[in-house]
Amino acid sequence: MIFIFGYHPINKTIGPVEEKECPNCHNTKHWLLEKSTYYISLFFLPLIPTKTDYFQYCPVCRFKELLTRSEFERREALAQLNNEALRSNMSEEEYQQKLKNINR
Ligand SMILES: [Zn+2]
Repeated sequence: MIFIFGYHPINKTIGPVEEKECPNCHNTKHWLLEKSTYYISLFFLPLIPTKTDYFQYCPVCRFKELLTRSEFERREALAQLNNEALRSNMSEEEYQQKLKNINR
């Protein structure tokens, strides 16, 4: 019997965070918050999570900036709110109110 093991990341984009200039391509855009969890897989099924990398990246050239877990957690609520705002018809007022709750 042959077992096929693998080791690969599963990436999850949380949402857009703050707007900043990219040091690589010099575009000023809202960077995207992402986490990458590495799994040991068996027959291509991810089984055991090993490590997680946290980062934000430029949406134009995908230049990455690594974040610590606490930096990631501080940005996570903002990224989720921005994602929600993009997908729904949230009013500016509602957005500002929710933003206040995050920054509290
Ligand atoms: Zn860039």
